[in-house]
Amino acid sequence: MSTEDIWFDPSLCFIGGAWVDPVAGQTLDLGNPSDGTVICQIARGGQEDVDHAVAAAEEALHGPWARMTAPERGRILAKIGQLVLDNADTLARLEAMDVGKPLKQAKADALALARYMEFYGGAADKLHGHTIPYLDGYTVYTLREPHGVTGHIIPWNYPMQIIGRSVGAALAMGNAAVLKPAEEACLTALAFADLARQAGLPEGVLNVVPGLGAEAGAALSAHAGVNHVSFTGSVGVGKLIQRQASENIVPVTLELGGKSPQLVFDDADIDAALPFLVNAGVQNAGQTCSASSRILVQRGVFDEVLDRMAARYGDLQVGPAMADLDVGPLISARQKDIVEGFIAQGASLEKAAQGQVVTDAPDGGHYVAPTLFAGVSPGHVLAQEEIFGPVQVVIPFDDEAEALSIANGTQFGLVASVWSREGARQMRLAKALRAGQVFLNNYGAGGGVELPFGGTGLSGHGREKGFEALYGFSTLKTVAALHG
Ligand code: NAP
Ligand code: MG
Repeated sequence: MSTEDIWFDPSLCFIGGAWVDPVAGQTLDLGNPSDGTVICQIARGGQEDVDHAVAAAEEALHGPWARMTAPERGRILAKIGQLVLDNADTLARLEAMDVGKPLKQAKADALALARYMEFYGGAADKLHGHTIPYLDGYTVYTLREPHGVTGHIIPWNYPMQIIGRSVGAALAMGNAAVLKPAEEACLTALAFADLARQAGLPEGVLNVVPGLGAEAGAALSAHAGVNHVSFTGSVGVGKLIQRQASENIVPVTLELGGKSPQLVFDDADIDAALPFLVNAGVQNAGQTCSASSRILVQRGVFDEVLDRMAARYGDLQVGPAMADLDVGPLISARQKDIVEGFIAQGASLEKAAQGQVVTDAPDGGHYVAPTLFAGVSPGHVLAQEEIFGPVQVVIPFDDEAEALSIANGTQFGLVASVWSREGARQMRLAKALRAGQVFLNNYGAGGGVELPFGGTGLSGHGREKGFEALYGFSTLKTVAALHG
């Protein structure tokens, strides 16, 4: 572990373009999941810090930011993207240390963050209004306008990617943002704020208040000065956020995870499918909202798929983030307890295979051996609840109708994939699967920043990523001129 990469003071908040002490002067320990040590102290922001941040954002909406043209805004976002690229290795090391994710996966997140800023920088001047043919003597047109102050409450699993997709899109539309990163991982959020400052983002346009969810998070989501809230995290907190937003009558985007299935038919290209079947379950130690935790396999190829997945599981190496193995630790001792609790609930099931925690993994790290369960009934808790750890279940099915009914048989609906060579089946299932994204003969499509993303059911609502996000992060005004 090395703190040399932290070029800013992580115990401060970033408000109004400056690094400031939290008003109450309190801090929290930031843990390293790979060895359980404390990396540094971070600010324990609270109500007053959030008040200051919202006020700074509001002020920024009356400053140079408001007068900037869309191409000028876009150019600043692109410049932030370039600085992210220039610092990608440092950001990757910060994220690996803070989140525990293997270095290569952390680097991919840094590159994705740069790509989000490029994409939204380029998109800033491309969302146009319409003219509407209307009554004689009228000219009617629509204007896309920012909401104003947007609140962003993000989790610890993909800080850089989630900052890119939510803050990037919000800024592209001319909003000002207040970001509350997760207590358990906030180094790259603070680093990003400093890079944005270096790129010339006007003061107050982006503010970061670290702290506890129940304090800084609750203060932000309940704040009467916040005009839109974007939240990624658990279903329980998502419900709270939506309830609080109802008090202020503001829109919310909720991204709450899933129980995403992959459907493997007898005619599938199993060689092509195998790496996706396993990686989609163990990437970032399974702590991925779009993780694929259910593998549904038609009976004709069930044994082959299970055996070959099990062989891959047997090869999975688990260890510290900096060792850059297949799987890192979980984020915290608490998350490890939750995941081990789920694995214990599978005691009566067939444990088809497990990965290995390397022998020199530090004792204090939060390691869990990836576990593959077979012979799981679709209603079992392991096949219904989001585990958020490296655990997958393999479920057999007879025909397409049964596969669809199992796939759609949870309360979630985030992502799904179909492995089959039959085009008509691909089209039928793409329509019938309850999910915000469906992949045909792949899973995740490389994570593309261009691809709109979001869920249905308990997975939440609203879309982030891609051009689509710009609609959510803006509001529409209709102008009707009567000129005769
Ligand atoms: P979480 O509690 O929902 O945390 C997400 C964010 O919300 C964090 O920034 C958190 O702050 C904040 N928060 C917590 N309570 C809040 C409140 N009352 N008001 C406003 N903000 C609040 O999620 P978690 O505890 O980190 O993880 C628990 C479970 O959530 C996981 O096991 C997983 O199932 C799910 N999860 C899903 C995703 C996803 O990508 N969909 C991501 C993470 C977790 P603090 O962390 O600082 O308290
Ligand atoms: Mg941490």
